[in-house]
Order: sequence, then C-alpha cells, then structure tokens
Amino acid sequence: MNKKLIITFLLGLLLLFVAACGSSDDGDTEEADNANDETEEAADDTESTDGTDESGDKEVYTVATDNAYVPFEYLDEESGELVGFDIDLITALAEEAGIEIEIETLEFSGIVAGLGSGKFDIGIAGMTITEERKESIDFTQPYYEAGLILAVNEENVDEIKSIDDVDGKVVATRVGSTSEEYLKENTDAKPEAFPEIVEAYQNVLAGRADAVLYDLPNVQYYSEKEAGGKLITVGEKLTGEDYGIGFPKGSEIRDKIDEALTTLKENGTYDDIYEKWFGDRPEGT
Ligand code: GLN
Repeated sequence: MNKKLIITFLLGLLLLFVAACGSSDDGDTEEADNANDETEEAADDTESTDGTDESGDKEVYTVATDNAYVPFEYLDEESGELVGFDIDLITALAEEAGIEIEIETLEFSGIVAGLGSGKFDIGIAGMTITEERKESIDFTQPYYEAGLILAVNEENVDEIKSIDDVDGKVVATRVGSTSEEYLKENTDAKPEAFPEIVEAYQNVLAGRADAVLYDLPNVQYYSEKEAGGKLITVGEKLTGEDYGIGFPKGSEIRDKIDEALTTLKENGTYDDIYEKWFGDRPEGT
C-alpha cells in the first residue's frame, strides 16, 4: 500500500515535471522555427483578415513568373524545383526589401494581363520593358539587357543569314512576346507563335519552320545545352530588350523593390547572381 502511494506520488511529480518542460520547450522551438524559416508565412495569429499587417503592407506578395524560360526561370530536371536568374534575383530582392513572396508560374502571355488586373503583385519573367506594356503596368529600372537574335536549322545557314532574309519565311516564336511583335512590325515573314518557346525551337529543328526569333540569352542557352549544335544563331543581335520587373499600376511596392535593386547592384549581390547563371560578371564591374 505504502509502496503504491509512493509510486503514484513520484509518477505525479514526474508528470508535472514533464508538462512544465514540455510547455517551455514548445515555446522555444516555435520561436526558433519562425526565426529560422524566413520564407515561411507569418503565423496566422499576426495576420489580419485582409492579409495586411499594421503598416498596411500585404504580408505575402504573389510573384508571377514564366514556366519555362532558360536560364531565367525553369524547372530543374533533377530536383524538379523552379530555378533561374530571375528566381534568385527576386528572392534576394524580397529579402532586401523585407517582404514575403510566393511564386506562381504560368504561360508568359498571361503575366502582363495578370499584373494589369491586379491578380499578381509582382511579375518577373525576362519581361522586356516596352511602351505598350507601360500603358497597363509599372516597371522597375532595367535589370538585364537582352536583345533578339535569329536562329536557323543548321541546314538553312546559307539561305537565311540575317533578319533581312526572312521575308516570306515561316519564323517561329512565342505568343505575346516582343519577338512576335517585332516580326509583325518589321518584317514580311510569316510568324508562327507558340505558347512555349521550346515548341518554336523544336519546329525549327524538325524543319517545320525556317527560323526562330527570340531573346539572345534564351536562344543561346537552348542551342548550346539542348540542341546539340543543330540550332545556329545568324546575323546581328537586335537590341532594345531591357528586362524589368512588373507591377500593377500604382503598386505601393514598386519603389521598395526598385530601391532594393539599386542596393543589390551596388553591393555585389546582383553580380554574384549574374555570375552564377551567366558564367562571368556583368560588363563594367
Ligand atoms: N523578353 C521577351 C518579352 O518580354 C520574352 C520573355 C519570355 O518569354 N519570358 O516578350
């Protein structure tokens, strides 16, 4: 009887002890988790119903990006993760600006419209700053200087040597892109625009299109890494393709991200990301 009482008493003490430790432990780990995981959404209890915090800023901003645009944003074949220059840049910019982001991928042609209607808060997708787009969305300062280039199947190199030789030819490109616009405005080619740029390359390689016109870094990357030397760039680079990050008109975070971009360009972070994806540091640094 005595023994039983003592055991019950000790068990009781043990339970109290465990409970006390447990509760203080929980508190610690929760805080540590939150501090460690910077990309995690803020805990529910600090969020008000409209998703804004006390300062009126939204807590999580949606970033729209392209689903397949090497090397700016694409799914890594091995890990299945969304990677690329733009992804690293927007992640670093969000950190610098002190905002949380959530990335969504979609077909390129839906991004400008989605920003214009306020469906997304930020758009980064190797998106060229154009006067037409500026009518419906706002941009940051340029963050990358691209340019368009023509490429042909290796069998066509003698026939199509530059953009001057494309009249009457089928030139593949992507729906809603500056290249599609360029072909319509400046050439008498027959543009054939695909939702995904990789389809344009495949059509040229299969001989169903005579050439492809697209942004130089993308064409170069594809022709070197995927096309096994069968897709050849021809002629001069057509300039005037500055990439900017887009926002709905009047967005309150445009300036924050733009300032963060200036900071990252000055402190070397931009150059590090550039070097990671393009192999060398940008000119002039
Ligand atoms: N720079 C081109 C444009 O803005 C293509 C971008 C893309 O395909 N992601 O139209």
